Amino acid sequence: MLSNSEISEAIKSMAAGKNPCDSALAAIVSSSDYDGELASCADSVRRKVYSDEVYLRGLIEISSYCRNNCFYCGLRAGNAKALRYRLSKDEILTACKEGCELGFRTFVLQGGEDPYFSDSFICDVVSSIKRLYPDCAVTLSIGEREYSSYKALFDAGADRYLLRHETADDAHYRKLHPESMSLQNRKECLFALKEIGYQVGSGFMVGSPYQTVENIVSDIRFLQELSPDMIGIGPFIPHRNTPFGSFSCGSADLTIRLISILRLLFPYALIPATTSLATIAEENRKKALISGANVIMPNLTPLKVRKKYEIYNRKLSSSLESAQAVESIKAMLADIGYRAVSSRGDVKR
Ligand code: SF4
Repeated sequence: MLSNSEISEAIKSMAAGKNPCDSALAAIVSSSDYDGELASCADSVRRKVYSDEVYLRGLIEISSYCRNNCFYCGLRAGNAKALRYRLSKDEILTACKEGCELGFRTFVLQGGEDPYFSDSFICDVVSSIKRLYPDCAVTLSIGEREYSSYKALFDAGADRYLLRHETADDAHYRKLHPESMSLQNRKECLFALKEIGYQVGSGFMVGSPYQTVENIVSDIRFLQELSPDMIGIGPFIPHRNTPFGSFSCGSADLTIRLISILRLLFPYALIPATTSLATIAEENRKKALISGANVIMPNLTPLKVRKKYEIYNRKLSSSLESAQAVESIKAMLADIGYRAVSSRGDVKR
């Protein structure tokens, strides 16, 4: 058990670039007493690397179909009540056009693992976006694929890939996923993406069912091993039509504390203030930004299908979560001392 002064010292040494031992990390994760100190250290570290810049990503949810059955997700194949759609190439390009006019220079194409989206389809979409908008980055977030598929998508012009590991602990992973899925494969995908040359993003849910503080420490250690460019974490929020429908939400406060910890351990990382945080309470978006986050991902998905992409219940898709609200987003950022930047917003290693 660490004393208060030892925990405070551990935070200061993290801010100076030192790696805390597991017990210090667990103590910092477990206590809310140092949240103010953590947020202030995290903000000064983020300002040294990224100044007051916040990067905007236009999120386009391209398919609500998924072949998998993660126990926590509303898009799981077993959810017969899920509303399914997939966007055509034209619909995706129209969303990019709108996003470009609104000032977005990164498009994030996200979807379930939809077998309909062949390599040739996604390669065609990616190369078309890059041809039409050469100053824009394309991020893919379409799950686990073969090495050859990742390579083909990269060669077609994809710049970044998001694939959250969700939990790095084998026993915990088994409680969140069916037998057909494998943590080992997910980790191999992440290292393959790095090897190919993508800017890689990973991350985990906070407060997922059965998660322990030790699991969170393992998640952070896995991220240190992977050294991703982007780290996305968000509180678990249940979806009523899943096996975890009756579990409670993860803690927004713990998620924000972890954003600060991650900023100290990964000063260069692109860390979003996620929609799930704002879904729990609107003010969490600002709290995340002043505690180390430097990215927001407003939604550019066509309005006619936007509400169908329901990975958890009550997911926000309007107001400041909407790309169309870009002027309000800029005003919100200015209000808390940051600046929305209309650029690709690449990682600054
Ligand atoms: S978390 Fe991803 S892979 Fe799992 S069911 Fe949902 S969309 Fe599919």
